[in-house]
Amino acid sequence: MSDTPEPLRRRPPLQAWPLTVVDALDVTPRMRRVRFVGETLEAFPWRPGQDLVLNLPTPQGEARRHYTIRAFDRAEQRLDIDFALHGDSPATRWARSAKLGDALVAHGPRGRNVVRPEADWHLLVGDETALPAILAMLESLPPAARAMAFIEVRDADERQAPAIVADVDLTWLHRGGPAVAASRGLIDRLALFAPPPGAGHACVIGETAMVRAVRQGLIAKGLPRERISAEGYWRPGRVGGHDHVFDAAEVVERVAERVSGRVAAAINRRLSPSAGR
Ligand SMILES: Cc1cc2nc3c(=O)[nH]c(=O)nc-3n(C[C@H](O)[C@H](O)[C@H](O)COP(=O)(O)OP(=O)(O)OC[C@H]3O[C@@H](n4cnc5c(N)ncnc54)[C@H](O)[C@@H]3O)c2cc1C
Repeated sequence: MSDTPEPLRRRPPLQAWPLTVVDALDVTPRMRRVRFVGETLEAFPWRPGQDLVLNLPTPQGEARRHYTIRAFDRAEQRLDIDFALHGDSPATRWARSAKLGDALVAHGPRGRNVVRPEADWHLLVGDETALPAILAMLESLPPAARAMAFIEVRDADERQAPAIVADVDLTWLHRGGPAVAASRGLIDRLALFAPPPGAGHACVIGETAMVRAVRQGLIAKGLPRERISAEGYWRPGRVGGHDHVFDAAEVVERVAERVSGRVAAAINRRLSPSAGR
């Protein structure tokens, strides 16, 4: 047995991927696709639905923003990212002006908003920021899979036609204006959702207040918490980042987990003083 104690708990750092822009195009009036290549992407471990943290160059330095991998082609070492254009923000400005040869570093892939292959059915809910993840997940489902997707966009011009082979009911909701917090479209539509029989899995992503409300509604309909993946992708006033979406009982559990993680790290440092330097 080794004398060196095993670390008790440590999250591995996200891997860095240098990327270069090879193309940029408008998928819809408000969704801009940037296509990247990367020499190391042959080893890229992607699951549809996952995202990258992009270090976007800005005049002030860098803006770190999460963006979903819309598509990945290992043979071509190429990936696509779709940017919802929402205003005059660092990511929107970068995406609008992206051109051949622009370079950045991305970290990841990360995220647990992915398809659970063992689920009897899949429910995918979200707004424009969730659209790349939802379409990537729907396109990854095999013909025998059953899914329901509810996507809220500004208007009919923002709809897309994904290449789906599974049995999917795709419902587009039109907000009729710019994105807002707690938009009622998805919340009200999902209030009418009747979970089919069997053990399904739901993925609810997009603006944080909407995600929280839809998740609570699904829990009230009897969907177990552990079969709902939920994450806040943006909210008014927040810059970059993401929101975990829990309820009070889970907050207590997660705080306890974090505290025990910190205690574990402190023990590791005591046992192995050079670790973590
Ligand atoms: C895991 C994950 C995956 C994501 N994937 C995608 C993706 O594939 N495509 C995508 O477009 N977005 C995606 N997002 C959302 C994106 O990261 C945020 O919208 C981010 O804030 C955009 O950065 P920004 O520089 O444009 O705005 P920021 O500088 O971060 O925000 C400035 C202000 O703009 C407003 N704002 C931010 N985003 C929006 C929005 N979408 N609509 C309206 N107002 C907004 C807020 O008031 C915010 O305070 C993802 C987020 C997460 C967490």
